Amino acid sequence: MRCPVCRAENAVGPYCRRCRVDLSVLWRLREQSERHRQRAWALAADGRWAQAIAWAEHTDACCDGRDGARLRALQHLLQRDFTGAWHWFCQARRPRATS
Ligand SMILES: [Zn+2]
Repeated sequence: MRCPVCRAENAVGPYCRRCRVDLSVLWRLREQSERHRQRAWALAADGRWAQAIAWAEHTDACCDGRDGARLRALQHLLQRDFTGAWHWFCQARRPRATS
């Protein structure tokens, strides 16, 4: 989790290891995002693509979105939406900023 105040990476919460700002809301959003991502993968495994995409849209609000972007790329690809798949493929390959 990257601190929005000092940009330090934090492996555990709820407080930033460097500036001690409370990141608990961001940690909860990350957990929620992970649950949505898991639900999206489960729906994709059942071939329920439209629902899987809808759940995937609820991911990545504040976190590293690479896994969510990969999920969306796969879902769009399997629906033969190549433009959407390319967009999310590029998002998934975008390098992360470092602190
Ligand atoms: Zn910080």
